[in-house]
Amino acid sequence: MDVTPRQLLRIAGDTLPSRYRHQLESYRYGPGVFKIDYALSAPIPWRNPAIQRAATVHLGGTLEEIARSERAMWQGEHSPHPYTLLVQPTLFDPSRAPAGKHIAWAYCHVPHDSTVDMTTVIEQQIERFAPGFRECVLARRTHTAHAMEQYNPNYVGGDINGGVQDLAQLFTRPAPRIIPYSTPLDNLFLCSSSTPPGGGVHGMCGYYAALAAQVHVNRDRVPDS
Ligand SMILES: Cc1cc2nc3c(=O)[nH]c(=O)nc-3n(C[C@H](O)[C@H](O)[C@H](O)COP(=O)(O)OP(=O)(O)OC[C@H]3O[C@@H](n4cnc5c(N)ncnc54)[C@H](O)[C@@H]3O)c2cc1C
Repeated sequence: MDVTPRQLLRIAGDTLPSRYRHQLESYRYGPGVFKIDYALSAPIPWRNPAIQRAATVHLGGTLEEIARSERAMWQGEHSPHPYTLLVQPTLFDPSRAPAGKHIAWAYCHVPHDSTVDMTTVIEQQIERFAPGFRECVLARRTHTAHAMEQYNPNYVGGDINGGVQDLAQLFTRPAPRIIPYSTPLDNLFLCSSSTPPGGGVHGMCGYYAALAAQVHVNRDRVPDS
């Protein structure tokens, strides 16, 4: 199952042994993201033209500024100058927008399950490095951290990594088991970002979950005589 502990408890909670259920209930989720999708009339007018050659742009200013922004979010605050990740795909794949038009999306980290609209501060941050950006915006769609979970139930509270990735939850996510992809239920395996090695588009959670399931199947197979 490609779900986090929250959904697994909802779907199969009654059938799980109480110890494992308690472990899933203790699982910690992290901060969320506030995301904006843009339709643009033109490429983003970066002050530094070299940025047009980057698909993903990290807008943070100085290291101190980025650290301050990320610290604020962990302390339950919303940074007025959020460290912003921005992607501008149509510079490299024009087929993603009508001819001559562009798309982009941007997000910043916010406290877990936040309902705060970060549009203004994110756009101030983009304008800082690309004056005139707002004039290029044809349309925008926003998702608060809370809304991210409505969009995809794996983004609990807007956490796109399937749970906090600190030392305590790195190898033992979602619970301390020799094979964390297995569950106490026979033939039920987890492959979401709530298993090692955690969030990201690397595909390794699914790969290792499939290996674990294969080992399980082979264990039960009666060898040919
Ligand atoms: C805007 C954004 C940018 C990102 N950028 C990057 C990046 O640059 N690099 C990177 O490595 N990672 C990035 N990530 C993170 C990465 O996409 C996620 O960590 C990863 O996709 C999570 O994998 P998953 O298998 O847990 O969930 P998903 O890939 O989201 O798959 C889970 C699927 O199961 C469905 N589902 C869940 N619960 C239920 C249910 N109860 N019933 C039915 N269906 C259900 C969901 O709708 C979804 O389709 C980004 C994420 C976002 C949102």
